[in-house]
Amino acid sequence: MHDTKLKEAIEFVADLIAGSKRCVVFTGAGISTESGIPDFRSPGGIWSKYNPTEFTYQKFLASKENRRLRWQMIKETTAMFQAQPNTAHKAIAELENISRLDCVITQNIDNLHQAAGNKCVIELHGNALWIYCLDCDAHFPRSEIQARLEAGEEIPDCSHCGGMLKLATVSFGEPMPVKETEEAAQRSSRADVFIVIGSSLVVHPAAMMPVYAKQAGGTLVIINMSPTPHDKYADVIIRMKAGEVIPAIVERVKQKIAQ
Ligand code: NAD
Ligand code: ZN
Repeated sequence: MHDTKLKEAIEFVADLIAGSKRCVVFTGAGISTESGIPDFRSPGGIWSKYNPTEFTYQKFLASKENRRLRWQMIKETTAMFQAQPNTAHKAIAELENISRLDCVITQNIDNLHQAAGNKCVIELHGNALWIYCLDCDAHFPRSEIQARLEAGEEIPDCSHCGGMLKLATVSFGEPMPVKETEEAAQRSSRADVFIVIGSSLVVHPAAMMPVYAKQAGGTLVIINMSPTPHDKYADVIIRMKAGEVIPAIVERVKQKIAQ
């Protein structure tokens, strides 16, 4: 992006946020690439190693072999979730501190918004740091189950009731969490400023949130490295790395509200 144009865009977005009543930030895998977690569609990412169609919810429930493979994948990817929040996550947490954020709606499962300090985080696709029992709903930290996997268990079961364990993320083919999806849709429709960061906006129904915001009269900002199918609804598009542009925007917001 041309420097003058970028400066204007940063100024415009900072003005929007400073004057907002209900600013909603909506994030996808792109905000965490600078923390070292590969996004969904990049070559060399986890999905070029594992075939996503093998990991549907239905197949997980139906076949022991599939569960074995899934747990093997979980075992191999645990280290990835020890990532730390980057400057973009931290800047968004700062927006909450200065009362310029209604909530973060995220498609990410990496817990990095909470790690950065955000309190109001709506997770549309669950959280990869937890494992839970499909029978008794007991929850276990992933690190605890990881230790069992590394000790040789191939398909760990619930230590309370012997039930089937599953990663607390929404799998392909699994219904979306009702409460989170409804709350996200509601807050999107009420947002006066809605900022998409690092999402290709192709995974539904999550990708509808910016459309709800726009339809209800909100101003839509998209900060993403590549084009999305919803760019036509955006009032501003910034094609830059989140970690470079979000801190600059939040810095300007702070200066503006201090004036
Ligand atoms: P996606 O991979 O489809 O799209 C990511 C987008 O971010 C791309 O358009 C890319 O151009 C952009 N991008 C990459 N790095 C960026 C950066 N530094 N700054 C700005 N933009 C950047 O991701 P999605 O839309 O979130 O959909 C993927 C699905 O996979 C989601 O449902 C999510 O649950 C899951 N997922 C989550 C994680 C995570 O938790 N970190 C990682 C991979 C996949
Ligand atoms: Zn149980």
